[in-house]
Amino acid sequence: MSWTNYHSHCNFCDGSDEARLYAETAAAQGMLAYGFSSHVPMPFFCAWSMKMENLAAYTTEIEKLKKEFAERLQIYRSLEIDYIPNVVGPQSQFIKEANLDYTIGSIHFVNQFADGRHWEIDGKALIFEEGLQQIFGGDIRKAVTRYYELTRMMVREECPDVIGHIDKIKMQNPDNKYFSEDEDWYRTEVLKTLDAIAGTKAIVEVNTRGIYKKKTTEPYPGKWMLGEILKRKIPVMINSDSHHPKEITAEFETASTLLKEVGFETVKSFIDNKWQDFSFTERGLNTNAIQSTNV
Ligand SMILES: [Zn+2]
Ligand SMILES: [Zn+2]
Repeated sequence: MSWTNYHSHCNFCDGSDEARLYAETAAAQGMLAYGFSSHVPMPFFCAWSMKMENLAAYTTEIEKLKKEFAERLQIYRSLEIDYIPNVVGPQSQFIKEANLDYTIGSIHFVNQFADGRHWEIDGKALIFEEGLQQIFGGDIRKAVTRYYELTRMMVREECPDVIGHIDKIKMQNPDNKYFSEDEDWYRTEVLKTLDAIAGTKAIVEVNTRGIYKKKTTEPYPGKWMLGEILKRKIPVMINSDSHHPKEITAEFETASTLLKEVGFETVKSFIDNKWQDFSFTERGLNTNAIQSTNV
């Protein structure tokens, strides 16, 4: 039994420590594989993303760790890539040239303020409220609809291997501050998005960050959405979106227990340079399956 994590940040972006410390921690915990996915460089100022001039050094560093850790841990190199139409996306030219092992596509920005600033939907509540008022006239339904519309556009136009934290916008909705996920319009948006994903090979990650950061009570996505994902036979994987070494497998027991409850029997993991299905328990992936799927 062993865990894997493919959504992670280090100090090339807004993570706390050098990449090496995460690799050492993962190896010490007996993890099978660890993927680095720093925030993609942005063509505008962004406090938490990697700087474009550091991309080459990131590539060199992760490739070096791959070799150094080869006997103890499989290491992979990715980026968490924002999708902003006509600005950046999983199929931007510089992404193709970066020759990543896999891609994660995420929506952190929805539309722009009148002054051109991109509206960050997973930052401070104050900024969320500001954009909601100024860009969408205070209409939460329009804002959330646009968020899911962008997710569908990403899936149709620049589909990544992994859809990052698919319903992260719910972090702004504690105690149903703005809406209830039971409302018809919300469910319609989510189901349309899952239908779009179902026609691709993309994997929906179950991202535990909201839980251990105490922003949400469920992972991204939560139970009802996972039920709809299962119905559509969309593959899932468990990721922590770690920014600190202590977070690399945080709340994986919670996520795997939830997946079992919903009825999932396997999760995807990128092992030996390919996506494979593994049975799992609340203690980890059944790595014996590696031999059987490799024959
Ligand atoms: Zn993210
Ligand atoms: Zn992330």
